[in-house]
Amino acid sequence: MNSDLATIPFVDLSFQHQSIQSQLDEAIQCVMQRGDFVLGQAVTAFEQAFAQACGAAHGVGVACGTDAIALGLQACGIGTGDEVILPANTFVATLIGVLRTGATPVLVDCDPQTALIDLAAAERAITPKTRAIVPVHLYGQLVSPAQLRDLSTTYNLLIFEDAAQAHLAEREGQRAGSIGIGAAFSFYPSKNLGAFGDGGMVVVQDEIIAQTLRSLRNYGASRKYFHTDYGTNSRLDTLQAAILQTKLPHLVGWNCDRFHIAQHYDTLLEPLSDFGIFPIENHSGSGHVYHLYVIRVTDLCPIDRQTLQSELEQHRIQTGIHYPLPCHLQPAFKQLGYAAGAFPYAETLCQEILSLPMYPGLSDRQIEQVVDTITCVVTAAQSKVLSDVVKVA
Ligand SMILES: *Cc1c(COP(=O)(O)O)cnc(C)c1O
Repeated sequence: MNSDLATIPFVDLSFQHQSIQSQLDEAIQCVMQRGDFVLGQAVTAFEQAFAQACGAAHGVGVACGTDAIALGLQACGIGTGDEVILPANTFVATLIGVLRTGATPVLVDCDPQTALIDLAAAERAITPKTRAIVPVHLYGQLVSPAQLRDLSTTYNLLIFEDAAQAHLAEREGQRAGSIGIGAAFSFYPSKNLGAFGDGGMVVVQDEIIAQTLRSLRNYGASRKYFHTDYGTNSRLDTLQAAILQTKLPHLVGWNCDRFHIAQHYDTLLEPLSDFGIFPIENHSGSGHVYHLYVIRVTDLCPIDRQTLQSELEQHRIQTGIHYPLPCHLQPAFKQLGYAAGAFPYAETLCQEILSLPMYPGLSDRQIEQVVDTITCVVTAAQSKVLSDVVKVA
């Protein structure tokens, strides 16, 4: 292996920013000149453009994705006494968002192949108090819209999408943000559409819910100094909106790049299935927007995930784990009362998953270097296992 190769970072945003540097500078200048830093012109413009891109009627910009989940659910009428179903293997923000409404979160297991919420498990978790389900379009792949709709109509449940990893993702002809009563997006810098700081948005179809959200994010004021809701201060900054508006026209192209990178990984990784390494399955074809490219290092592999990750680090390839501990085993959420073993698939995945470098601008050479390195590390481990077997024999 060539050890002089440069570091391959897990995420590198410089490619996207360089390609539109002057447009970004101009957008930032424009906000500075106007001086409308809070709820300015660019916020409204971006809300309309992003909602339209999602196939939703309204967009309401908020401070971050976590607030988008909490305020979005609240505006849809979710609160104390309601049960809300969500997957155990998500970023904790999904759970925090649900808890902040006062509702009771009900966690369920995932499908081990796609890592998406197991809707059969969700169905079993429904009680007379269940009001909503929060499907998380994890890693950039939608939870099946058709199956979600079936569940929602059979049991009269609201669907509120956590689309923080799925900007413009599609499945069965539907787009993230157009499936449920509402959807939450995050514009954290490394998301498929990222700001230069925090940002988020709720997209909804209903005008009244949109109005409630505009009030909730702005101290609960329906007009200036007249407070109809117990709201908060959670607004998308005008500067961030202007940056996001500038990036939005490029998102389709950047998502395409991600898809091609994923296809390249898929092809090169194929032979490693013999060594127990499998990519998380894509069940949505070209609609997957690959926020993350995740492989499973199963117990058929001669080395474990942790060893593979540190070997890659030594070869200057940075990787991530999304996420190492499921929500129900986080110390902060002990009071929910779930024990280890409650969600076996989610727990096993946490041990197996490894996110490989993925960002627009990652080159073919870099992709090849990542897979070559994994192959070398794994085959070396395999021959060691075999020679140990020979020694024992
Ligand atoms: C990033 C993310 C969030 C939270 O968004 P923030 O903007 O960081 O608050 C919520 N859910 C999922 C699945 C995410 O990936």
